[in-house]
Amino acid sequence: MRLPIYERLFSQFHFNKKTILTLPKKTAYCSMKFLKQPCCLLIAISLLFMNCKGGTKAIHKKLKHPLNIILLIGDGMGLAQISAASHYAAGDLCLDLFTIIGLIKTASGDDYITDSAAGATAYSAGVHTYNGAIGVGMDSLPVQTILEMAEAHALSTGLVATCSITHATPASYFAHQKSRSMDLEIANDIYNQNIDVVIGGGKPYFDIERLQKLGYHVATGNAIDWKMDYPQYFYFYNDSIHPPKWLDGRGDFLVNATNRAIKTLNQNKKGFFLMVEGSQIDWGGHNNDFNYTVQETLDFDKAVRAAYEFAKKDGNTLVLVTADHETGGLALNGGSLKDHTIQPAYTTGHHTGIMVPIYAYGPGSELFAGTMENIRVFEHLCGLLGFETKH
Ligand code: MG
Ligand code: ZN
Repeated sequence: MRLPIYERLFSQFHFNKKTILTLPKKTAYCSMKFLKQPCCLLIAISLLFMNCKGGTKAIHKKLKHPLNIILLIGDGMGLAQISAASHYAAGDLCLDLFTIIGLIKTASGDDYITDSAAGATAYSAGVHTYNGAIGVGMDSLPVQTILEMAEAHALSTGLVATCSITHATPASYFAHQKSRSMDLEIANDIYNQNIDVVIGGGKPYFDIERLQKLGYHVATGNAIDWKMDYPQYFYFYNDSIHPPKWLDGRGDFLVNATNRAIKTLNQNKKGFFLMVEGSQIDWGGHNNDFNYTVQETLDFDKAVRAAYEFAKKDGNTLVLVTADHETGGLALNGGSLKDHTIQPAYTTGHHTGIMVPIYAYGPGSELFAGTMENIRVFEHLCGLLGFETKH
């Protein structure tokens, strides 16, 4: 794969903690040769004279900007989970179609091993915070999220998940609470937002009448009519807290929800921000249940395909697929090409610190090649959408 000019340039540099550019000795000669190209020299100068954020800003200006962002998060989805799903898939995974891929460092503000709350807040608000934090920084104070910024800029917004909407990953986009366990307080925070589309579980935590008074259409069930459309709605998967496993009959809920959300949000000519979570890949990992993990990853890939197909037609949509962390320390210790089987081994029932991949497609996707901190994703998205960050 041939990287765009500035990515080739970026690959020559390392950022230290103070975000000052340093040139590794080994690559100095070829870098200098590279810099003889006038446009590269210009970019290099702009990078060297600004701090990292400023330098990144200069890069953002040069790129084609997307109108819409679809961020898909496979909770607990590391390379082993993807490799396993790919081995069991009937054909190629949609993920296999992406050509721009990077690696994300997942550590949180207080632990090498992140949890999903800190992991989600890194993506939603661009801060390294403590494990358990929902949309707040190390000091427990609220940090503005990209979803809130999108709302402030009149973009449409949506959240889709296969868990309760109050669970760590979706919650970190609309709530500001010091602990992920505060489901009722987290749910309460949604009334102050203006999210257009919310699809997932968690109905018991919400005041349905209040939602209706705010103008939301609220539907509940496991056989939602995906053709119906309203400008703003909550679709709850039954009355339970979490939708069931795919293996227990969740069906095409995730892909249908993703398609429905995209159709609704795309009616806004100013653009939209949509976060879709494959929530239960993580739970398969915690349970050390390989089949659970694989089926959830395959199901998540269908939602990825829905986003990818839309973006391909649309041309103004950036699709990002990543994970907050890996779960289970999954190893693939053998397998059969003939029988499509794998001998898995889990090394833990918790999360691990291994980097996770990020896949990018669409305008601005070039920014996501290479190795980066999780918070950099937020910075890039803000840059591409023209949002000024407060922190
Ligand atoms: Mg999650
Ligand atoms: Zn987890």
